[in-house]
Amino acid sequence: MKVKKLVIDYSTLSTWRTCPSKFNYRYVQQLTGKSDSEALVFGSLVHRGLERIYRDCGSVVPTDGTTHEIDYLGSGNIPSSTNDPLTNALHWIAAEAAKTCIGTTLPDNRRSIKHLLTLLTAYFKNYFPDPLVPSRFESFHKVALTDRISFCGTVDGIVDTIPAVFETKTTSFLNSNFLERLNPNDQATGYCVLASDLLGKPVRTIVFNGISTSGYGMTPGALTSKPDKWMLYREPARLFLRAETHRSDADIEDWLSRLLRDCNRIIEDIESDTFSKNGPDSCTIFNSTCSFIDLCRTRKENVPILIQNTMKVEPWKGCTVEVEA
Ligand code: SF4
Repeated sequence: MKVKKLVIDYSTLSTWRTCPSKFNYRYVQQLTGKSDSEALVFGSLVHRGLERIYRDCGSVVPTDGTTHEIDYLGSGNIPSSTNDPLTNALHWIAAEAAKTCIGTTLPDNRRSIKHLLTLLTAYFKNYFPDPLVPSRFESFHKVALTDRISFCGTVDGIVDTIPAVFETKTTSFLNSNFLERLNPNDQATGYCVLASDLLGKPVRTIVFNGISTSGYGMTPGALTSKPDKWMLYREPARLFLRAETHRSDADIEDWLSRLLRDCNRIIEDIESDTFSKNGPDSCTIFNSTCSFIDLCRTRKENVPILIQNTMKVEPWKGCTVEVEA
């Protein structure tokens, strides 16, 4: 097989760097587990909710009715019509959340609709009117780096006036761990490359918009099992942290040369259909176990049965491989 073109995003590249076999399962064979991760769905709803709030609310001040509205919506009630833009945005978010695995209306569940709405309202109260209003959200873009290799990605937000990438991160670690991960950070450097191409001028500033999703909730074994102790209610301001970092032209050049080197290796792997396994170190990272671990552990003849029973095929727009006929 000869690869004609490879279009890759950061997530795909990072997976290959973590474990080439994982890259093969997920992005070449396009396999994924049968159920969506609750944490990923919650994080994605926070992103979409913020986009809606920035678009709808401008510089409005939160109303007293908002808390009651959250209780009302979080208990599974049908939204009523209102003129308050924040409440309207929350209506929309609640309706979107109800279609997902976090659609639970149980008030004690950490990733419930109620907590999604409470978190977004706390964000609004903390920052609005916000001096940093992104003018673009979730901008998918592709940059051709060579004849064969392109880099693509979705930039969370772009603040044209600075200009800066506005990168929202939902994370359990909103402390020194969070700050230490801002630079170097290949993902954010890649967003600078995409945003620069989108705006037609260099973007070298990244504002990390950290949102904590830890410290509250009744996940099994959680230390904080009493809602009145949850940071979400007791100290909502501590749920948010913004930090600005910058990239030099040399950082961008270094990023580019490493990206091209690894993309050429990925092409070699695909053409030879040979993908090494980086286990065991890569099999459990960021407190989660690789979803392909059963495929790696079982005997070769069992792999098709496992794929049929535990996996589904789901295309991923972050990586396309075009091969010569
Ligand atoms: S289980 Fe480990 S070795 Fe297998 S694909 Fe996942 S990370 Fe790689």
